[in-house]
Amino acid sequence: MLYRIMPKINKKLSILGMGCMRLPLTDKKSPKSIDEKKAAGIVHYAIDNGINYFDTAYPYHEREGEKFIGNALKGNLRKKVYIATKLPTWSVNEFSDMEKFLDEQLINLKTENIDFYLFHALNRKRWEVLKRVNFEKFIDTAIKKGKIGHIGFSFHDDREIFMEIIKSYEWEFCQIQFNYLNEEFQAGIEGLKYAHQNGLGVIIMEPLLGGKLADNLPENIIKLFNKLSKKLSPAQWGLKWIWDKPEVSVVLSGMSNIEQLKENITAADSIGADSLSKEDMEIFELIKNEFNKNKQIPCTSCGYCQPCPSGVNIPTCFNRYNGANIFGNFDEAKIGYLRFVVESEQAKNCTSCRICEEKCPQSIEISKEMDLLKKFFHQ
Ligand code: SF4
Ligand code: SF4
Repeated sequence: MLYRIMPKINKKLSILGMGCMRLPLTDKKSPKSIDEKKAAGIVHYAIDNGINYFDTAYPYHEREGEKFIGNALKGNLRKKVYIATKLPTWSVNEFSDMEKFLDEQLINLKTENIDFYLFHALNRKRWEVLKRVNFEKFIDTAIKKGKIGHIGFSFHDDREIFMEIIKSYEWEFCQIQFNYLNEEFQAGIEGLKYAHQNGLGVIIMEPLLGGKLADNLPENIIKLFNKLSKKLSPAQWGLKWIWDKPEVSVVLSGMSNIEQLKENITAADSIGADSLSKEDMEIFELIKNEFNKNKQIPCTSCGYCQPCPSGVNIPTCFNRYNGANIFGNFDEAKIGYLRFVVESEQAKNCTSCRICEEKCPQSIEISKEMDLLKKFFHQ
């Protein structure tokens, strides 16, 4: 296992982190039904093979995720790893809510101290709420009482607000979505570099788009992977592409079985920063182009159209729709959209005012496309 030192914090973290949102289940339809025996096997194998960063969150596995991790890391194992968990910002209305969640999370995790504590899924709206409820005082108090070690946030919105959040507080780290197909989405590569320049460690989530960049890839894309300089699986190459960026501290992968874990650990044994050749980078461009052939809306996720007066998160809605067409997983994409795009930011709120259209450098007829999305996702 390779390790990187997170700046500011000066802690040695495994470049592969265990994302605990896709643990094996006994009943596939019930996220609550963690298969504790199998999942504990994965956790213990990960620790034995050098993974020292475990990422969970209050809502994972319908609030059973933290409790499972607390049980799995009982005793000496707790001292071998860093635990990261997240405060559900969407449920915060007043100062005491933050204290209440943190105390509940410490009980769930059976620990006196959460090493890495994040405000979960920050966006423009939630950021305003956090400022109103005095999040700074909450952090100061929690750190003084020894309840949290380091403070950061995970993020889902456009780059402009990402940079504003970074500028506004002495964060130690942040967590962003980033992979070779989503280089410009949300914070994107520019946000990654900005966070690093400001001294933050950066944790990466969705490195393989929930497995879509790892399994069942079409033949034409597999052929391109075979042209890359080393014989690695698409999943390993996807991780390598991210680890190539020296600004990245840890890449989280939500591994659901031992085989995936072994595959990722093998990759994390040998892949350093700045290790991709010019030729490999060129092949990655071909791979991206091949995927993007099925992209329906030429949105680059630049975010210039934001904010929409009706609250629609235009780049996120387009990204979900494009993803559905790229991967052809229409039913799954609809479920993901309804579950993960906040209702007030969904396409159904578009009033066709067209204010956004004059700001779009791609000249996308956004209101027309929103009509398409309304039919696709909401009918
Ligand atoms: S056209 Fe729709 S998406 Fe664009 S600004 Fe108006 S309401 Fe928002
Ligand atoms: S719709 Fe246009 S302005 Fe908005 S994010 Fe996409 S490309 Fe940028």
